[in-house]
Amino acid sequence: MAKIGGQDLYETYQWARAVAWRYHLDQFEAEALLSILATLDKGRREVMREFQARYAGANLSDWQEARLEALLYEMEDLTAGVRSELTQQYTTMSVTVAAPSITETVGALSVAGLARGVNNVALSPAQLRTFFQETPMGGRLIQEWVDRSFAYSVQGQIRQAINVGVLRGEGYPGLVRRVEDGFGMARQDAVTLCRTFVSSANNQARDMVYRQNADVVRGWKWMTAGDNRVCPICLALHGREFKLGEGPDTPIHPRCRCIRLPKTITWRELGIPMDEMKQELDRWVIRGRRDYDGEILVRGVHEGGKDKTLRVGRYATADDWFSDLSTSEKQSTSLGPGRVKLLEDGRVSMKDLVGPDYQPRTLKQLEALADAR
Ligand SMILES: [Zn+2]
Repeated sequence: MAKIGGQDLYETYQWARAVAWRYHLDQFEAEALLSILATLDKGRREVMREFQARYAGANLSDWQEARLEALLYEMEDLTAGVRSELTQQYTTMSVTVAAPSITETVGALSVAGLARGVNNVALSPAQLRTFFQETPMGGRLIQEWVDRSFAYSVQGQIRQAINVGVLRGEGYPGLVRRVEDGFGMARQDAVTLCRTFVSSANNQARDMVYRQNADVVRGWKWMTAGDNRVCPICLALHGREFKLGEGPDTPIHPRCRCIRLPKTITWRELGIPMDEMKQELDRWVIRGRRDYDGEILVRGVHEGGKDKTLRVGRYATADDWFSDLSTSEKQSTSLGPGRVKLLEDGRVSMKDLVGPDYQPRTLKQLEALADAR
């Protein structure tokens, strides 16, 4: 393997962080989608209830063309509530993605603060919300995407039936079936819109940071998800470089998972100390919540959610890391007081914590090992 120089290392670091962040967003997206589908399903039940109240048993064969057309407008009316709720949810989701994406992009660009001149983007959640309400994505606003989805699915199904003249013959049962089918299509759209909006919010956030740092970011580079599901358009664009404010939209198509990577001035010009940059790859993090007397409370993995980052350090080995921890930080590890004491006294080191069979040594075994030395 070729020796990795400073610039390559910096770019590899950007790439690796972007991949890790994208993975994190995938998890978020899966949760967001559940709540969006729940809204849609609740909306469908409400619409069907109201629908039933208005039309149950209607004899459509008697209806004039004008009345059938009016049915379409009423349908638009009936879905107004669920459309507005979905628009709100997508907008909130975009803000929820963009805010941490901005922080992540600043962190990556500056290599966790090693490059001093990197500016943050100071936008409040309210400002971000306005941004996502007013900025078109793929030529349309979030609200327009949602309205369009319903126009094609729920109303589209009825319109089609009116146009080919089957609705009168099918009567009320046919009408109900078409509305149900329409909601099924809207559900498919919701999956696509959710993915596309998450990707868009992530890339918009990245772009905001790049523009805010136009003195160090020269442009951006197209990076695909790098797997066998990448479409031909994006395969052709992978690795291609563009100036800031130029190039195609990301996402370029629904469900596109591509990411904008920064093209910067050199790491030397950025003022990144290379030794520390290399150490940044050995980062150790203390997570948790400090209580009133300074103790660090850590949530178990099974408890869900994620603890706040309290401190980031750079160490080549687990022993180096441990020796730099404060008393409360040591207490917040999974070691327990007995092992902490043995390590502090230098009687054992991290590698001693497991035996030759890679099973954890008990305190008793550790003490015996230390005594035998
Ligand atoms: Zn793509």
